[in-house]
Amino acid sequence: MDYTENYHTHTFRCGHAGGTDREYIETAIAAGYKVLGFSDHTPMVFDTDHHSGFRMPLSQAEEYFTTLTDLKKEYRDDIEIRIGVEAEYYPATHEKYMAFMRQFPCEYMLLGQHFLLREEDGFYAMSPYRDPAMLKAYYQNILDGVRTGDFLYVAHPDLFNFIGKPKDYDKVIRAFLKEIKALGIPLEINRLGYSDRRIYPNRRFWQLAGEAGVDAVVGVDAHRPEHLTDFDAIRGCMAIAEENGLSVTQNLL
Ligand SMILES: [Zn+2]
Ligand SMILES: [Zn+2]
Repeated sequence: MDYTENYHTHTFRCGHAGGTDREYIETAIAAGYKVLGFSDHTPMVFDTDHHSGFRMPLSQAEEYFTTLTDLKKEYRDDIEIRIGVEAEYYPATHEKYMAFMRQFPCEYMLLGQHFLLREEDGFYAMSPYRDPAMLKAYYQNILDGVRTGDFLYVAHPDLFNFIGKPKDYDKVIRAFLKEIKALGIPLEINRLGYSDRRIYPNRRFWQLAGEAGVDAVVGVDAHRPEHLTDFDAIRGCMAIAEENGLSVTQNLL
């Protein structure tokens, strides 16, 4: 298996990941990775006093980029470290958020949409929804995010927990994938979901993705250093790509 680049790695700063930055890097080097991209849950700018429980606070952004920049230099002979974030696309606050991020040497952003449009409203994508209008709104939210051009790829695009009619699912997902194909942005098959047996990777989603011929990537979504060596699950994700005729893109940056 040739899996040597992972752009989806968290750190302790989000509050629900473990290990030190150095442990992720040394685990990656020992496992033969060539590229390790850090993409912790970004600090987010809100219009309200909303407190997000699963991401680093705004006040920690500077430390995140400074520490990782030092480590990138220290380990440059052994591995290529990339420094990014996993972010949401919240249209009302996106420009403010981007202005905040421009202060830092952020090399890339993954689009990981956990909430619909506004985190404050609490429409969490992994809650079950029966209404196809919600499904449609969620994928429109992602497409609008992709169209900003600010994102490298879409993390776990199959996160949305739709429990309505399969024919409604197929219709919305087919339309979404057609746009994604035209936009040329890769979609991620997520190791964490695979390993934890979550609702994603969603097999039907990836069948339809195969028919649409989109680009795929496999992301570890590491929340602990040892996740980088969860090769059984990584192989499982690669197999999903292969079964559906999708080629896994490398050299993203
Ligand atoms: Zn997380
Ligand atoms: Zn993630």
